[in-house]
Amino acid sequence: MLDKKAIDQLWFEQDEKYLQLQKLAIEKPDNWQSVFHLIPKRIVCMDERVQLREYREPIIGLAGSGILLSDKQRQRFVDKLAQEVDPGTITVTYHEYCGACNLYCFDHPDQQPLPVAKKSAEELRKMLGTNKPLEKIGWSDDCQIKAAGKTDFHHARVIFVDGTGKFNPGRLKLIDGFLLSVRYYPDDAYIMKEISIAISLCFGNHGFGQERFHQYPLLIALIGDETNEQYENRHLSYLVKQSIKDHSLETIKVIDLA
Ligand SMILES: [Zn+2]
Repeated sequence: MLDKKAIDQLWFEQDEKYLQLQKLAIEKPDNWQSVFHLIPKRIVCMDERVQLREYREPIIGLAGSGILLSDKQRQRFVDKLAQEVDPGTITVTYHEYCGACNLYCFDHPDQQPLPVAKKSAEELRKMLGTNKPLEKIGWSDDCQIKAAGKTDFHHARVIFVDGTGKFNPGRLKLIDGFLLSVRYYPDDAYIMKEISIAISLCFGNHGFGQERFHQYPLLIALIGDETNEQYENRHLSYLVKQSIKDHSLETIKVIDLA
């Protein structure tokens, strides 16, 4: 585990970008629309450390390459995605030290997170019908893509809840955050499940912990699609409220980036 000094540093080095994001809720820069221009080409864990920021490409954030989806939900995810994106153009990724796969292995103690992550990604790849090979993200030498941050610590101070499916925070070099591409999630219950998991990772032992968010709360940034009532901010905001009702509201702040 990291010592307090290292954790302090991870917190303070993000202050400027944290404040920048809060300002975005009030005023958008001229190039704001450019964060929605490209069609995503990769499915990546929602984890803030594996989002390929240096690529500046939009991605689809989904916990553990779909490990937490039931078979029926996984099919629904694929169907929803196929309505908007050519599934053959998608690369599925998986990553080391995945919190979602860890959670899965708590319930399946005979299994290990990394093989579970790869298996889930492979299943999704087959269902999408894409020939693009899987990509591994992480810190080891055999990873095609390097992850950011630390293997055993979530440095996210923000959760992005994206109802557009195209939001590309890397484009404007925004602060790292969990990215939940809820546009393609199978149902409201699953959206709430991932929001709850992202919060618990931020507030848990492998994140900054809830105490730290008292002065500068965990930001839940809503990026709604105001042309679609299923994904507009009003509905996303309702789902977030349902997901956070067990938490102290002083440590969470919902902001509107639509
Ligand atoms: Zn993960």
